[in-house]
Amino acid sequence: MKIYNTQSKQKEEFVPLVPGKVSMYVCGPTVYNFIHIGNARPMIVFDTVRRYMEHKGYEVNFVSNFTDVDDKIIAKAIEEGVSAQEISERYIKECKKDMAAMNVKPATTHPLATQEIDGMIEMIATLIEKGYAYDVDGTVYFRTRKFDEYGKLSHKNLEDLRSGNRSLLVTGEDQKEDPLDFVLWKPKKEGEPSWPSPWGDGRPGWHIECSVMAKRYLGEEIDIHAGGEDLIFPHHENEIAQSECCNGKTFARYWMHNGFLNIDNRKMSKSLGNFFTVREIAEKYDLQVLRFFMLSAHYRSPLNFSAELMESAKNALERIRNAVSNLKYLQEAASAEEMTADEQAMLAEVKSFETKFDEAMDDDFNTADAIAAVFELVKYANTNVTSANTAALTGAVKEAIIRLCDILGIIAEVKEELLDDEIEKLIEERQAARKAKNFARADEIRNELLEKGIVLLDTREGVKWKRA
Ligand code: AMP
Ligand code: ZN
Repeated sequence: MKIYNTQSKQKEEFVPLVPGKVSMYVCGPTVYNFIHIGNARPMIVFDTVRRYMEHKGYEVNFVSNFTDVDDKIIAKAIEEGVSAQEISERYIKECKKDMAAMNVKPATTHPLATQEIDGMIEMIATLIEKGYAYDVDGTVYFRTRKFDEYGKLSHKNLEDLRSGNRSLLVTGEDQKEDPLDFVLWKPKKEGEPSWPSPWGDGRPGWHIECSVMAKRYLGEEIDIHAGGEDLIFPHHENEIAQSECCNGKTFARYWMHNGFLNIDNRKMSKSLGNFFTVREIAEKYDLQVLRFFMLSAHYRSPLNFSAELMESAKNALERIRNAVSNLKYLQEAASAEEMTADEQAMLAEVKSFETKFDEAMDDDFNTADAIAAVFELVKYANTNVTSANTAALTGAVKEAIIRLCDILGIIAEVKEELLDDEIEKLIEERQAARKAKNFARADEIRNELLEKGIVLLDTREGVKWKRA
């Protein structure tokens, strides 16, 4: 399996630190609002990397943080007149809902920055002790020039950076020894969350969070560190500096970065107003369509979001689902005899598409080519599997499509039972709402179900439902 390493700018054979195991850290979102579809790209991409690794038999320890203390969270809290914690808790909850709807598996651990302050203080103290950091009036800075390898990930020339940055020094920052020094700990401001530390009350800088959480949950050396390409500099460069100077070991062996998501060929940004939350997309599409769309491009390429591309993703996904449901229908009607010799040969062809899929994924997770292999298999099934085939063959072809899609986190078989589950859950929620005399919510649920063709019948034996 080959992975493109941002640090070496090359595809490298993946060799884990511990055979059979993978330790992976993915920088998570800052939780001050609903996540947008740009944030969804690393979630979907690296969840797919994880799923493929698991398919290959690796045990993956997947850690992804929530940044729950930050200027934007504090600003939002002030705007709403609530605590920063209330804001971050609310949007972590919403983010987890979006992740589930995109079929992104929960991480092995989702650490929160605010729960890891002790570890951060410890790492900062070690860096000061080793001469890599210094305290000026309650602000602790990292002494960038002391780390010879600074710039090795982003391939930036330190001297250019330094001369470019000198002019950027603003009032209040002139206490830095060097323009490239960055903050590890900042002093408390009135009305902001803070924690006690040897340098006074304050809060950690953003970069130190990830160094500490990666160390605590994965160790001093990890296999893969990942995030969006905007994080290469300064965030990941600074993480390397902190971790390697503190621990004296190589921090991460493979650095993976996803390309950016654009909208209508323009950079997606709040200021341009060309900006969608995952929740907004969910109003129009099954989020499986969003996932399919994201995986239809290589993760390192820029990807353009447009209504046309979403429509074609929707159609493509439907083509796969139709093939699966057709195979299911054929399987149910087919004979239970043993596979014929001809069918054995057909099965071998099916295997060849699976091999093609794996080859594409082994080549730096080329999901575009992997999806092409799924379509070849779908086309093969549509043209070659008929009502003359045995249930064994038909079932095996169907399972192969489902299995490949599952590695991508794409659900190819839409199960009725799943829908039933959702209905039962909503009915339960409606009952609870009625009990709590929240009749508005109860009516809302009844209407929601009605819109989906489910009629509720309040009977003496309790609530019954039927499809209209
Ligand atoms: P943030 O909440 O801004 O720290 O971002 C969380 C993750 O989303 C990081 O890995 C970012 O690199 C990534 N990200 C943010 N915007 C985009 C975008 N437009 N396209 C792809 N990834 C993005
Ligand atoms: Zn990070």
